[in-house]
Amino acid sequence: MYILIINAGSSSVKFTLFSKETVEVIAGGLVERIGIRGTTTHYRNNKGNDLSDEARVADTREAVSRIIELLTDPEYGVIQSKRQIAAIGHRVVHGGEKMKFAKLVTEKVKATIQDCYELAPLHNPPNIEGINACEVHLPNIPQVAVFDTAFHNSLPDYAYLYGLPYHLYAEDKIRRYGFHGTSHQYVCQTTAAFINVPLTELKIVSCHLGNGCSITAVNRGQSIDTSMGFTPLEGLIMGTRCGDLDPAIVFYLMKHKKLDPEKVNRLLNKQSGLLGLAGIESSDLRDIISAMAQGNTQAETAIKVFAYRIKKYIGAYTFAMGGVDAIVFTAGIGENSPLIREMACRGLEDLGIVIHPEKNAGREKICREIQDNAGKVKILVVPTDEEKAIALQVIELLATETSEQ
Ligand code: AMP
Repeated sequence: MYILIINAGSSSVKFTLFSKETVEVIAGGLVERIGIRGTTTHYRNNKGNDLSDEARVADTREAVSRIIELLTDPEYGVIQSKRQIAAIGHRVVHGGEKMKFAKLVTEKVKATIQDCYELAPLHNPPNIEGINACEVHLPNIPQVAVFDTAFHNSLPDYAYLYGLPYHLYAEDKIRRYGFHGTSHQYVCQTTAAFINVPLTELKIVSCHLGNGCSITAVNRGQSIDTSMGFTPLEGLIMGTRCGDLDPAIVFYLMKHKKLDPEKVNRLLNKQSGLLGLAGIESSDLRDIISAMAQGNTQAETAIKVFAYRIKKYIGAYTFAMGGVDAIVFTAGIGENSPLIREMACRGLEDLGIVIHPEKNAGREKICREIQDNAGKVKILVVPTDEEKAIALQVIELLATETSEQ
């Protein structure tokens, strides 16, 4: 049997089919530019087929229909019938305060996802569309919602509350939620298995550094603090997001730069971070490192700001947990940039955090340790795999549902 993972966005649907038994990828792809000119479907399977076509796909429902056609295609397909799909796992960004674990989709669960529309207006509505499309095209197959926020539901109130009037939490639910939960949970579980120490005995600082960046303090398997907040804008410097900021800057921008809320929102989310700081019209760290290598000092400063913020959070979370056993780097930058890993850990030798230069420079796309033997803290590079993490949660949920029956 198979597990189909669906990640439905505002104009794209990403899909991956896993073997339920081996959790290996059998096929996957992406339908992008849905409902607009230039819709493209990419599909690849483990038989070596790699296809792209530009047939029009009007909406998420059609996209799911297209995905099933591809998976069951007599020539390129990998399954004979959609009945071979044991369950569908959906990536859902926001589960609010109620969703502490992955959940079998019911009308009640859908209503909770809809209640969170205000909190994730760009993500939760397309996530529901993905669920509805699967209900139409894959009826009677269990659907599971896996929430990006769920892992952070263990945060204590003193970590999730802001210093705002309490009624804004009580009535409007303004609080820290945190994101990238599936990734943080997955890399921490992978770390524990890799170093052969139970997760319940470890204090881990997990650094997810991609285009979006967040750091989480994972104390004995539980997220106890995380850098993203009410929205993914808070915390680290990111590709185009500013991260932590004095809120008074927002009023300054509105008053003195005459920016309306929409423009401020765009500036902070889309024009800031590495893109805004480096000023080379790219948010890609590789481009900024090349610019620095060619003597661009503004690019160099952007990288310093980026790495310094990471270091500050590593320090804060080490203290929040009363120590750290392992620092984990994951996602595009965390997995691929020795420079950022080195800069984030530089000068921490007296605290037992010592990177081994050659191990750090390694390029293997596997889980590996990069600390020097002189350091007591383990430092790891752990490739994240959010689709696989969702598939594992779906399989686990199916197993508990079956055993409870
Ligand atoms: P993600 O969102 O996890 O896919 O990460 C994407 C980001 O990873 C890109 O925007 C790049 O900044 C960064 N990245 C990928 N490969 C490298 C690399 N070899 N060196 C530095 N940064 C990289």
